[in-house]
Amino acid sequence: MNKIRLRFPPSPTGKIHIGNMRTALFNWLVARQKDGELVLRIEDTDLARSTKEFEEIILKEMDWLDLAADEGVGIGGNNGPYRQSERIDLYQKYANKLIEEDKAYYCYCSEEELDQMREEAVSNDQMPRYNGRCRNLTEEEEEKLKAEGRKPVIRFKMPEIEKEIIVKDLIRGNVKFSSAVLDDFIIFKSDGMPTYNFAVVIDDALMKISHVIRGEDHLSNTPKQILLYDALGFALPIFAHLPLILDENRAKLKKRGEDSVYVGEFREKGYLPEALFNFMALLGWSPGDEQEIMSQAEILEKFSIESVNKSGAVFDREKLNWMNGKYIRESKLDRIVKLAIPYLKASNLITDNDLESNREWIERVIDETRTGVDYLSQLPAEAELFFTDVNFDDPQAVAKEFTGEDVKLVFDSLKEKTKAVDNLTPEAVNRIFKEMKKELPVGARTIYHPVRLAITGKSSGPEMTSVISIFGADEIASRLDNALKLADAKL
Ligand code: GLU
Repeated sequence: MNKIRLRFPPSPTGKIHIGNMRTALFNWLVARQKDGELVLRIEDTDLARSTKEFEEIILKEMDWLDLAADEGVGIGGNNGPYRQSERIDLYQKYANKLIEEDKAYYCYCSEEELDQMREEAVSNDQMPRYNGRCRNLTEEEEEKLKAEGRKPVIRFKMPEIEKEIIVKDLIRGNVKFSSAVLDDFIIFKSDGMPTYNFAVVIDDALMKISHVIRGEDHLSNTPKQILLYDALGFALPIFAHLPLILDENRAKLKKRGEDSVYVGEFREKGYLPEALFNFMALLGWSPGDEQEIMSQAEILEKFSIESVNKSGAVFDREKLNWMNGKYIRESKLDRIVKLAIPYLKASNLITDNDLESNREWIERVIDETRTGVDYLSQLPAEAELFFTDVNFDDPQAVAKEFTGEDVKLVFDSLKEKTKAVDNLTPEAVNRIFKEMKKELPVGARTIYHPVRLAITGKSSGPEMTSVISIFGADEIASRLDNALKLADAKL
């Protein structure tokens, strides 16, 4: 039996965003599940907007997410070339074939003439569409138009008899379109480039694609493509159109500009690829139970293209953050350390020398502070207190927190008790606090709040038992003493 063949054909006209990557992921899942083959094709016929840099970003982000294709740009294969800009001859050949068979024709209409055609249709309450003016030009007429220096496009000749075009879709069932709403659409532009609808059909057919899985925004293109498959004598692939991804206001997720969601943005902010992979798998699909955290293997086992939803999938950043935080906490420490170090360095909290002399301690700090972050670029803010002196926002206001006999009692007791313990683990610190509560004539608040403030400079933050354990008795004593000095100085 032939292997099923899928494709991911992004256009390198911008940094790849989540919407496109979700399409790559769903194709990849089906390919891996069914022992099929995934082709990576680059659709770069928009010469003005396509760049090598955007193409490289596509490859890099797919690699980061562990979504390897089997064939295509950057990989090779027997069905190339895999960049559309390198396949123009092929498109030309098939366009010529359609012209020879009277299924396509040159159209010389100018922009102004087309505008006028549109306006006339609108003023007659008709749908604006090409009226077939160049459909049956005589040779002389054509020569005359050419002599005027007009550059023609090639249009597809829509079948005259109205017919129903049925898109058989794995997710949506049979979606029916009438050919009457289509006009003689352009398959080759006057700049000598094929249009998307034409090139995609030639490529999918020649690359022996059996399953076309793509975003719902392409559903309306599919009837045109089906007509082209028929006209060219190619067998139809199986279609599946994935639901749109919506933003939190249920508007279509932006592809470009400020609030768009580039894959690179998540990588740079320190999201883990497996968290984004897991999150994207749930954009339009769910395993049918409550389970949300799933490994690649579990997703592969449970996913099915037929159970993808029809309705839009909301991109919920809070959910992604929650998931990523969970992955960060549950990952092996070694890995998180490796990923976190560049962020700490970039924030000037540590240097290579610190790493050499103090690595174990830095690892403990990372281990402790990873519990409080959603993504790793947030780590320096959490970890800062371990690497810098206490920095009170408002020393004057804070001084009164360290004033009075009770605070002195608390600080003295904590200093003494932490010094007396050999191995100051978080559990040991916990025991110390328990003893202090029992022994000292003060309320719990007078213990915890001034201690946290004196040691971290803040009223909230990581677990104090861990903070004290990481700092050790000497550093704790020095921070508590400094706080008392601050109070003295203000009296
Ligand atoms: N280059 C098109 C896009 O990125 C491909 C659409 C398709 O999958 O047919 O939207």
